Amino acid sequence: MKSIAAPPLTKIPNYINGRWQESFAAEWQDVINPATGEVLARVPLSDTSEATKAIETAAAAFPSWRRTPPEDRIQPLFKLKQLLEEHINELARTITLENGKTLTEAKAELRRAIENVEVACGIPMMMQGYNLEDVARGIDETMIRQPLGVVATITPFNFPGMIPFWFLPYAIACGNTLVVKPSERVPLTMLRAFELLEQTGIPKGVVNLVNGGKAAVDALLDHPKVRAISFVGSTPVAKYIYARAGANGKRAQCQGGAKNHVIILPDADMTMATQIISDSAFGCAGQRCLAVSVAVTVGEAQKTFRDAITEAAASLKVGNGLEEGVQMGPVITTQSKTRIESLIDRGVNDGAKLLLDGRDSKISGGENGNFVKPTVLDAVPANSDLTDTEIFGPVLSLVHATSLDEALAFLDRSAYGNQASLFTSSGAAARRFRYEAPAGNIGINIGVAAPMAYFPFSGWKGSFFGVQHAQGRDAVEFYTEKKVVIERWAADHSRKF
Ligand code: NAD
Repeated sequence: MKSIAAPPLTKIPNYINGRWQESFAAEWQDVINPATGEVLARVPLSDTSEATKAIETAAAAFPSWRRTPPEDRIQPLFKLKQLLEEHINELARTITLENGKTLTEAKAELRRAIENVEVACGIPMMMQGYNLEDVARGIDETMIRQPLGVVATITPFNFPGMIPFWFLPYAIACGNTLVVKPSERVPLTMLRAFELLEQTGIPKGVVNLVNGGKAAVDALLDHPKVRAISFVGSTPVAKYIYARAGANGKRAQCQGGAKNHVIILPDADMTMATQIISDSAFGCAGQRCLAVSVAVTVGEAQKTFRDAITEAAASLKVGNGLEEGVQMGPVITTQSKTRIESLIDRGVNDGAKLLLDGRDSKISGGENGNFVKPTVLDAVPANSDLTDTEIFGPVLSLVHATSLDEALAFLDRSAYGNQASLFTSSGAAARRFRYEAPAGNIGINIGVAAPMAYFPFSGWKGSFFGVQHAQGRDAVEFYTEKKVVIERWAADHSRKF
């Protein structure tokens, strides 16, 4: 996929200091439509010097931007919301072209992106500090929040439109200046989003876009002017970024991978549970960090759920996400397809029973696409690799437990803690699950427990490294530094010296 030769196709530019600039990267990569194999464009793997230019630009823009009143800083966001609404169909199409998910799924992620812009428009309220008069006679104390300076965002391939907006609106509304490094596999969506951002009249240098991979990321991690890093991606990279940012004295919030469990109790509404879990496991071709990957049935739920979910999965229409009626698109790359299929092989070799086999799928018109059809594996042995490996594809493993205690033990053993869900009609079981489940996002009769923009997108254990999460109030905490001011002015009332 990489070549040193000059790219023949559309070259994706960087956006630095309010100007679109052709990269002088030595290495370029194809951006490929996963449904057709067609090369859509060429993305530069920008090197340290280009990332450094973006950082220096953002640093130069910071003094003026931080002095811009918060009320003025949110005006470009109001315009951005309007532009995102007006261009939602076109943006969704771009997401589908480069990521493969269906148009409906692409629009849904853009709705969450817009919601984050809306919430960040409340920064003049959300960024306020607090104060108390007379902490001692005639002495007042105030906590104010100030922006950090230059901050950076590094994002994954699976939500090209939404995840950058978990960070961007809050970072800039709080008065920081920003460098965004999107996934090199899906750079077209941010290219278009930045064209819209440019139309808002936001001052030069406040937002910058650098396309690339590891070299650009490392430059952001090492540059002393970058104060904070927001990362979303796989756990090994999240750990690396958290460690390197920390060693360089930066604050970091790093969201990692997942292996999400759903527990189905015998008293669950089985029709509803099946539909919702099917959407969670196979929607976005299983490439959601909140996708259910292991279904734990308790007691009598085993047989009813096993038959129902296999039937629901088999009925899904798989194909090009641009086509009407398609419910599931391809996975992102041919390498990803190969990896997913080999994990299914491994599960079967370990003794799991294949109820539905999505390997070697034949999709009419999708011969060059990376299609894996929905796959259901039953009785995955506890010692199988599949039990706690993030597959990131349309594969659901079924395991069985005799009680809620035993089912919860599966979650305890997992290295991840992004999401856990329970399907039940028992309030007591739901309360216990909410209390004990070791995960950051909990669903009760919910398949994809994705927090609204005004709640933090949580995550525990190997799914998150840091303290403050993405979105809402956590984002304001993350992108501001607290300063406490203690003042004595009223000599009359003060202690006499
Ligand atoms: P990835 O880790 O491969 O890449 C994420 C970003 O890191 C990209 O911008 C990439 O260029 C950069 N990167 C990759 N390798 C790097 C390296 N060695 N050094 C520095 N930077 C590097 O992730 P992906 O495949 O794009 O996304 C899928 C993963 O993201 C899954 O594991 C999924 O669970 C996770 N994810 C997590 C959440 C969450 O909220 N926890 C949300 C979405 C996706």
